Amino acid sequence: MAEQMQHVFGEGGLLSQHIEGYAPRQQQLEMAEKIQLILTDSTILIAEAGTGTGKTYAYLAPAILSGQKVFISTGTKNLQDQLFSRDLPTLRKALAVPFRAALLKGRSNYLCHYRLEMAQSDPLQKRHYETLHDLTVWAGKTNTGDLSESDLLEDNSPLWPKVTSTIDNCLGQECPSYSDCFIAEARRKAQEADIVVINHHLLMSDMALKASGQGEILPSADAYIIDEAHQLPEIATQFLGNRISSHQIQELCRDSIREMEQDAKDMAGIRDYADKLDASLHGFRISIGETDNRTPWLTLLEKLGVKNKLADLVESLNDLAEQLELAAERGKGLEQCHNRCSELMATLEFFEQEHQDDNMILWADIRSTGIVLHATPHDVSQYFQKWIDDKPTAWVFTSATLTVAGKFNNFSHQLGIDDAETKIWPSPFDYARQSLLYMPHIPVEPSHDDYTTHIIDLAKELITHSQGRTFILFTSYRAMNIVAEALKDIDYPLMVQGSAAKSTLLDEFRSHGNAVLLGTNSFWEGVDVRGEALSCVIIDKIPFASPGDPILQARIDALRERGGNPFSSIQIPAAVIQLKQGIGRLIRDPKDFGVLVLCDPRFLTKPYGKLFLRSLPAMPITQKMEDVAAFFTDKV
Ligand code: SF4
Repeated sequence: MAEQMQHVFGEGGLLSQHIEGYAPRQQQLEMAEKIQLILTDSTILIAEAGTGTGKTYAYLAPAILSGQKVFISTGTKNLQDQLFSRDLPTLRKALAVPFRAALLKGRSNYLCHYRLEMAQSDPLQKRHYETLHDLTVWAGKTNTGDLSESDLLEDNSPLWPKVTSTIDNCLGQECPSYSDCFIAEARRKAQEADIVVINHHLLMSDMALKASGQGEILPSADAYIIDEAHQLPEIATQFLGNRISSHQIQELCRDSIREMEQDAKDMAGIRDYADKLDASLHGFRISIGETDNRTPWLTLLEKLGVKNKLADLVESLNDLAEQLELAAERGKGLEQCHNRCSELMATLEFFEQEHQDDNMILWADIRSTGIVLHATPHDVSQYFQKWIDDKPTAWVFTSATLTVAGKFNNFSHQLGIDDAETKIWPSPFDYARQSLLYMPHIPVEPSHDDYTTHIIDLAKELITHSQGRTFILFTSYRAMNIVAEALKDIDYPLMVQGSAAKSTLLDEFRSHGNAVLLGTNSFWEGVDVRGEALSCVIIDKIPFASPGDPILQARIDALRERGGNPFSSIQIPAAVIQLKQGIGRLIRDPKDFGVLVLCDPRFLTKPYGKLFLRSLPAMPITQKMEDVAAFFTDKV
């Protein structure tokens, strides 16, 4: 078997013959061989593969050659598209073996014929009717119905929920458009394919659906390969548990009226009850206040008036449910509305209770656009354990950032996997030659008022030496905006997160070749800028998550109550993984070079700082700006 992978990845092998510029790497070959064994033996592997290992081919090639049905899950839809449209076709050509591949996304990505039709009768702005018309034309031409393939809907368009379905409002096989349904077709292709490319959100919604006993979305498979696996516990947290949003209630009101007008015109009382529900929702929203944040639910429930308005809301849901029950036999749409109304009521009643379920964290996400109440599990590991036990297949969890100081405990503990084989393949890049770690002396701690001023002075000097070509990664918008204001007159193009879409900013950054980009969370990972355009990454602080977050705070409190140390068990490991992601932006290619700047003095002054430094690639370290200047002079 090892010969087969050698034949693919070795010197003069299939990849060398078919991919221009392909360079064989021992780490990639070893990883592919290991994954081939895991697939054969149906066991579990947790593997960290450093930047540049070439892990995508290292798992795709054995998956394709195994002849098994394999699900490949990626972190984002962009990566999913890239894998399906670029990497799989490349390997199809190089390996020259037949296999069927399919791309499967979550429901909200596919145009729903039924809801598109229904939306035509909604009161909308004129331009939205034009978009609905364009979507109808597009629906007749597209093969997939995947809305990302059309430019017709912007990310934040209010039409998204109107032209896509949810598990609640899909009519399934009773839908008049079922024979043309894009989701049904995508699932049929996934059923028949050997390699199915999915994303973590879909994978986790499948797990959540299974955990709630409501069935499953994905067909069964022989193996699951999870790339960017470090994101999995966080995404699982979003999907497991329960939630109810003001948006769901508003949609229910609208759909109930529409379905009544279509199938039960004589039951106009439904409109009155839907309007009453809408008014109760408005009253509830006002009682919560205008705060734009994530807040523990019990804190809100204690606010004057919230409990009463919540009771009104439950009562209005109950009234509408009674009306819909009478109308349910008139049509599938009304029956669905009745089911949705009953489920929403049951979920809301859960939030009415004042006693806390010890396993759940109750919190509210309050935005100007609406409110979502969440019941999130403290610990997702039990769900994973059960899910994995129920699927006795091969599992590969991989990412460039899974270990903390060389250990997988934190990741495997979060997923409740204690019997997996673990492997680390370090990056093949020559960090000793290609990079320099600069740890400046900043005389104050990040909590000090003057800290950001020091970052500004430092950034200006570094940008001069690096001639632009810099990312500055922040842990807060506030610090980012202060530094952005102070750098607005620099001699290099300056880009700031939020001023344009992330992809636009990155395209501009690459094309300028000497730009400076300031970003927070979303720029710490999934960003690939190769070559000289990015030669310096400045990290302002250790990326500890905000302790004000209700999920994190509840987990910290629970662990403390059990006698544990949340700082070392939760906060430090999460920050190490994020730091490794941020650092991974710097060297993306064997020809890249660059300076990493860790500004936070706590890396050197606090005992835990060593743990962070032990988690980094072996880079030469300096505390002198002259060394940074010399590094850039040598490399330019
Ligand atoms: S089956 Fe569901 S998703 Fe498909 S067209 Fe009908 S309502 Fe939409």
